[in-house]
Amino acid sequence: SGTLYIVATPIGNLDDMSPRAASILSRVSVIAAEDTRHSGRLMQHLGIRKPMMALHDHNERDKAGQVLAKLAASQDVALISDAGTPLISDPGYVLVREARARGFRVSPVPGACALVAALSAAGLPTDRFLFEGFLPAKQGARKAALERVARESATLVFYESPHRIVDTVRDIEQVMGAERELVLARELTKAFETFYAGAAGSVGDALEADPHGSRGEFVVMVHGASDAEVAVGSVEVDRVLGLLLKELP
Ligand code: SAM
Repeated sequence: SGTLYIVATPIGNLDDMSPRAASILSRVSVIAAEDTRHSGRLMQHLGIRKPMMALHDHNERDKAGQVLAKLAASQDVALISDAGTPLISDPGYVLVREARARGFRVSPVPGACALVAALSAAGLPTDRFLFEGFLPAKQGARKAALERVARESATLVFYESPHRIVDTVRDIEQVMGAERELVLARELTKAFETFYAGAAGSVGDALEADPHGSRGEFVVMVHGASDAEVAVGSVEVDRVLGLLLKELP
């Protein structure tokens, strides 16, 4: 039977496409892409002509069936997304799960991933990190999500879109304190690659002061909670628990 290749593509700089990734794309029978028009430009750049099929969040279940049929017919298929590594805040999970459940070979062709690129150059601890993907779009839900990880001691990593970046940084400042260390990685591997680093409050100010600040794509990284912050949390929990226990009959 065929192999399903999970192929990473660049997150900005097209030279980040690995030779092996390009050669796999030129060898498979069909390429499943999130947006065939967007990926068509990459294929043109690489000089690769292949049949493509669209596989995105809204049709993944249907399209997975078509891909599995090709694998069963001994055709190799490559899955790519608009940028970076498929399945990392991108479609593909349903397909990979099904392909594995049916015993097909699934093989990664690694390459760019904004999460890893950002962490590798941010200067925050990388021994433990918690990737939270995209935060909720609505402020109430976003703050609640931030509250849930405020006392996590591992480095926190989020993806964020340009139109919400200022709000998100301000929410982090409110929930985790203006002094919490924050690093924003903007437009990685592109012409206007920028890192903003410092206390949450000052990063928010710098972003608002920069006329290009909220343009482009961002990875948001937050230093994990300090021992003191983690301890404050548990002291507070102990105090509330103590009060509640006193109220019990
Ligand atoms: N699968 C992709 C990966 O491997 O990184 C991520 C896809 S997700 C839909 C898109 C988000 O990734 C953006 O909103 C942004 O947070 C982040 N991202 C992608 N490319 C980026 C870049 N060049 N610079 C900074 N962040 C980027």
